Amino acid sequence: MKTLVLTLSFLIVYSCSVTAQSMQSSKKEPNREQSESVLVPLRNNTRITPDGMFSPGEWDGALAVPMSENCILCLLADSENLYLGLKSSKPAATMLSEVYFANDEKQYCNLHSSDRLGEGASPFRESPTFKVGVTKEWSANVNSFNLARLEEWQAAGKPLDTKRYGDIYGKNDGREYRISRKKFSGVHLKLKVGFIYLKEGEKESVEYPGNSSFNSANDWIDLILPSAVEAAIGGDVSIWYLGHCGFAVRTSKYLLIFDYQELRDGQQPKSRPSKPSLANGWIHPEEIKDLSVRVFASHSHDDHYDPVILEWKKTVPDIQYFFGWKAADDTSFHYLVGPRAEYNSGGLEIATINSHHSGVPEVAWLVKVDGLVIYHNGDCQPDDPVAEYEFLKTKAEPIDIAFVPPVHEERWKYSAQNLLLFREFSPRLVFPMHAKAGDTIYVDFEKAWKSKIPDLPISLPRKMGERFDYEQGKIRK
Ligand SMILES: [Zn+2]
Ligand SMILES: [Zn+2]
Repeated sequence: MKTLVLTLSFLIVYSCSVTAQSMQSSKKEPNREQSESVLVPLRNNTRITPDGMFSPGEWDGALAVPMSENCILCLLADSENLYLGLKSSKPAATMLSEVYFANDEKQYCNLHSSDRLGEGASPFRESPTFKVGVTKEWSANVNSFNLARLEEWQAAGKPLDTKRYGDIYGKNDGREYRISRKKFSGVHLKLKVGFIYLKEGEKESVEYPGNSSFNSANDWIDLILPSAVEAAIGGDVSIWYLGHCGFAVRTSKYLLIFDYQELRDGQQPKSRPSKPSLANGWIHPEEIKDLSVRVFASHSHDDHYDPVILEWKKTVPDIQYFFGWKAADDTSFHYLVGPRAEYNSGGLEIATINSHHSGVPEVAWLVKVDGLVIYHNGDCQPDDPVAEYEFLKTKAEPIDIAFVPPVHEERWKYSAQNLLLFREFSPRLVFPMHAKAGDTIYVDFEKAWKSKIPDLPISLPRKMGERFDYEQGKIRK
């Protein structure tokens, strides 16, 4: 029985490869001068099941590109996957689809679906190939058929006439592909589609873009995916805990990274995960390379500054560094060495206050960006916090997000400083830092401050990489 099914597949596959080749030389459509850029929409919590049924609501928010009179290409993405739908105007019985994509100029990939799935990679200028049964990090529906009916058909000695397939094959709305974004790097992707389907006994072939070849991807569709970090964000602003005093803040234009180091979280050594990412509290430059990254280091102590941050500029084209001391001789860095240094450029307004502790100069940052006010204290402990906060108040009040020492007991100077900050700036969101994720120090901090200021909104980092979405002045959980 298996042989028969395979025979059917190969019949269809064969007919497709012939069609694909003949289409290369067809002149049915006008020549395309340049490839189009298509922005793939983002929808979080996408629940597209690659079953060939375009259920109501399933593709809401997708981009629909007409490929022919009767067929549309649907595109949608989330942080994990690219979804691609080939929908025919009427349910079709047998279908054959080829999704070709290229991430570089050397070769292209082919995701095939007919009775079976298959995958292959070929250099440009060569015809597509694939191996049946190979599906690495993607899925799509295949033709559904009635095996009993097929056996009957075969036993009756009837020919494998493609026009009669409708009698054996179940009908679907089209093809649905779910392709993991791990299959390609970055946000740019070239795409070409081949789709053949039988509807009411008639065969329709679609090649999109028409007249495109396998010589290069120049005349393929140029897809732009939402960046993976962008896609991971639900609210207006997202905050990730990167251990100890390290936080990443994603605003509408920037990714800000404060006091990042890979040494420890509180007193606990950090251990590098197999796949470092924001989601587990690590910066992997590849992940953030499409973003406008602004890096802040408050002072030179190794629990606040790690030279590894300087490596990121090799991978991230739009990156700038802000230091609270003269950290290097590189003139491309910004040294906000006080007292009360300021910076204002590119929609980023920064003001610092200063102190010395354990022999090194240091700052606390007030950063105004994209309608937000962010305060990161580092280890800063000014002699006269009243005067320093008066100065910061001339720059902004209130504060949206405050990262502060995890201190509440009155005997500590930091406690008075925290109290002053909370009173003067009414922060909309407070994170304690300088301990480890889930530490009782953090828990005690929350309890103690809640008893003093009941409506103080405190968020506690409970694990490395924990993400907090901040929307219209509130944490969205
Ligand atoms: Zn320090
Ligand atoms: Zn410290």
